[in-house]
Amino acid sequence: MAHIPHRTCIGCYKRFAQSELVAICKSGSELNVYSSDSGVSKSGRCAYLCKNEKCLDKAMNRKPRNGLENALKVPASPNIWEEIKSAIS
Ligand SMILES: [Zn+2]
Repeated sequence: MAHIPHRTCIGCYKRFAQSELVAICKSGSELNVYSSDSGVSKSGRCAYLCKNEKCLDKAMNRKPRNGLENALKVPASPNIWEEIKSAIS
């Protein structure tokens, strides 16, 4: 059986097959959003979020640092949350 990588969602901390998640990957100081597997493996460090707006809210509103900043150690701009939102809807 093929190995399916599982990743942890930064909103609910549950584990999902990577294909069910949106990846937010850090390359240099930039963040890129990937709504499918393609391109993710070539990227640097990634955080994952399941395709659920409630998880997006949770990750966004986590204190003191939001889920993305926690996972990737870079500031998350408002734009990136918009990008993730359109990737999951
Ligand atoms: Zn989740």
